[in-house]
Amino acid sequence: MTDDDAPVLLVTGGSRGIGAAICMAAAQHGWAVAVNYASNKEAAEAVVGTILDAGGEAIAVAGDVGKPEDIKAIFAKVDAYFGRIDGLVNNAGVVDVIQRLDEMTPERLDRMFRINISGTMLAAAEAVRRMSTLHGGKGGVIVNISSMSSTLGGGGQYVDYAASKGAIDTFTIGLAREVAAEGIRVNAVRPGIIDTDIHAAAGRPDRAREVAPQLPMKRVGTSDEVADAVLYLLSPHASYITGALLDVSGGR
Ligand code: NAP
Repeated sequence: MTDDDAPVLLVTGGSRGIGAAICMAAAQHGWAVAVNYASNKEAAEAVVGTILDAGGEAIAVAGDVGKPEDIKAIFAKVDAYFGRIDGLVNNAGVVDVIQRLDEMTPERLDRMFRINISGTMLAAAEAVRRMSTLHGGKGGVIVNISSMSSTLGGGGQYVDYAASKGAIDTFTIGLAREVAAEGIRVNAVRPGIIDTDIHAAAGRPDRAREVAPQLPMKRVGTSDEVADAVLYLLSPHASYITGALLDVSGGR
């Protein structure tokens, strides 16, 4: 059963790391939450369980945002369960092992851009089809999770990932202007180095601890600190903010 009054938020990649923190913070702020995950059902169900235990509302929704048919299925499940959608956080994203550009394969680039760019854009398209007043919707809000790497370039580490986040910045500005008169705000948060599992996927599980001394604040950020910024942009406190790129990077 759903509480008809609660606004509904879909968080892609909500099972772990930054996405999980966003799901839990959103539930605390009164959102009913659809927790998307790619493969880690157990982690997604743990996030849902935490929200339900605290008296909130949540469901886990499987789906790989790198697959257009899965994105359709994710939104269909949200439609069927909640019957509405008011917010989307495009958080799902991947890195790959550290390589120079001249070592990268076409397959690596395809996967990176399919998940990080096309996944974000296709999910946003589904949200716009439902939220836009042009389509009979009531408006809504989209937050894309970019990265400070979009400004730093990722040289010597993963220029493909950084370029994918540069695309997210540009897309955020463009879509914000495209749908601004249709009741939808679109913003991005650009985290710096946050202590999550993502660094292990790049072959550097200790990256957060290693780089901390080089950061202006001499520490990495937490998923909760990113979630706070996302919740602000989702909220009516940000009602005149669209097309903004909010850095949550400790000055990096
Ligand atoms: P993470 O700990 O690796 O978690 C990734 C999450 O995304 C998991 O919930 C995972 O689901 C999900 N996911 C991965 N591929 C997916 C796909 N194809 N479809 C749907 N879900 C997928 O990552 P994170 O560090 O929290 O990063 C979250 C976002 O923040 C990403 O966009 C990342 O680029 C960005 N970011 C992170 C940092 C950082 O330092 N951590 C810095 C800047 C930006 P499963 O649990 O099912 O695998």
